Amino acid sequence: MIRFENVTKRYRGTSKPALSGVDFEVQRGEFVFLVGASGSGKSSCLRLILREDVPTTGRVAVLGRDLRALANRKVPYFRRHIGSVFQDFRLLPSKTVYQNVAFTLQVTGSSRGFIQQAVPEALALVGLDGKQKRMPHELSGGEQQRVAIARALVNRPQVLLADEPTGNLDPATSVDIMQLLARINAGGTTVLMATHEAGFVDQMQRRVIELRDGEMVRDEVHGGYGDTSNIPRLVPEEVRGAAAAAALTAVQEVQRQTADLSMVRAALTEELSTQRKAAAAVDRDGETVVPPAPRTVEPPEPARSQADPAANVVEPPAAVEPPAVIRPRTHPITLPTVDVAELGVADRLGLSDEDDEEVGPTS
Ligand code: ADP
Ligand code: MG
Repeated sequence: MIRFENVTKRYRGTSKPALSGVDFEVQRGEFVFLVGASGSGKSSCLRLILREDVPTTGRVAVLGRDLRALANRKVPYFRRHIGSVFQDFRLLPSKTVYQNVAFTLQVTGSSRGFIQQAVPEALALVGLDGKQKRMPHELSGGEQQRVAIARALVNRPQVLLADEPTGNLDPATSVDIMQLLARINAGGTTVLMATHEAGFVDQMQRRVIELRDGEMVRDEVHGGYGDTSNIPRLVPEEVRGAAAAAALTAVQEVQRQTADLSMVRAALTEELSTQRKAAAAVDRDGETVVPPAPRTVEPPEPARSQADPAANVVEPPAAVEPPAVIRPRTHPITLPTVDVAELGVADRLGLSDEDDEEVGPTS
């Protein structure tokens, strides 16, 4: 289902590879921890799986596709089969719980009937059925992560990637989230979770792949994480500019899943305008609003449009071709306030001028 073949990833301008000769295969239905210290290459692995990046050498295959051979224009459709959640939740602060989960479905053109069925189901799955109308700031951290998980799952992806999903949560809440992920896995979803937090890994007794300085040093079927007594807990960082980062994330999410950029533009304009009003209100109260760092550009979960009948079919790859009427634009567009092209998003989404076929056969 996910295969790394001797994968090396070297970022431009760095001397040491972030990943070096990484080789593993994850089977359908597995729950796998990707562990290692900060900087060991966990997020790099997840980005390769999402085809946000390609290996320098080696091959990554996901859901039967060699991602190097996957044309850029097909990437958004491929990503609909993969849900992702992150440490910082990335919810839209001006939308309710329900709207956060429904948002992607709406902008990718799912039918109202589908949305009305799928969103409450996803919220029930994560134990939030009574909180549909809450705003994110009215929820605890654990509840916010549950919303993010519901959003990632609303279209029933085959794979769920979780990058340090408990990194901002206290230990008790983290255990709840882990149990939720285990339950999701028990329902058949393949789960790959990156974490540096030892305790949960021990408790879960699942397969552990460990990275150290980009090299795989362990692949254990029923792993533990070794002696955990000396590992300090991280204090959650204050997320600055989280609102604007969430808006950007949402837009990228939409871009990933739709070739109709007018919808992207409308969604972004609406979200930014809401946030500008909120920011102005804060300013009047004398507080400083810190702009987001553009590095928070990892897109969140994909979704699948019910209007796309081929979307449930994973193989052959041709089955997820976009309908003929929707063609991706071939150049980046400039959106109000945020230059998405500048952030490299257009490239990753296959909206740039780059030739699709530039990704040749793997070495
Ligand atoms: P982890 O998620 O385990 O903390 P990462 O995959 O984020 O590790 O990073 C692995 C290594 O690659 C680190 O040394 C990091 O500094 C480097 N790295 C990650 N992303 C980039 C990038 N876009 N450009 C240059 N170096 C990067
Ligand atoms: Mg990371």
